[in-house]
Amino acid sequence: MHEISLVRSIFNSLEAEFSAEELQRLTSIKLKVGLLSNVEPLLIQNAFEAVASAEDKYQNVELQVETVPVEIYCEACDVHSVIEHYKFVCSSCGRPNNNVVKGMELLIHQVHFAEETTV
Ligand SMILES: [Zn+2]
Repeated sequence: MHEISLVRSIFNSLEAEFSAEELQRLTSIKLKVGLLSNVEPLLIQNAFEAVASAEDKYQNVELQVETVPVEIYCEACDVHSVIEHYKFVCSSCGRPNNNVVKGMELLIHQVHFAEETTV
């Protein structure tokens, strides 16, 4: 149920940032979820639907989840490597490395609003 509270906090931060009128026109939310963030894209999608469908104003909002691969940085080689299968090694020198620079994030990347209807 960790995802439900996450979804709630996403809505809370949107409500803090945008007015109720703006949120009426909200159509989609794009999240960036790092592979190390402990969030399952599928679970957060389900949680989102559960929370959104319980609230009138979010009935038409769609959630898009973009997963961010894990990336490490090797200082010795000055090289960034993308980690696959949880093998934390530098792709250049092959040394073990857990200097993670990407893949832990969980953030609202973009929000989309429908065009304002002119009165
Ligand atoms: Zn290296």
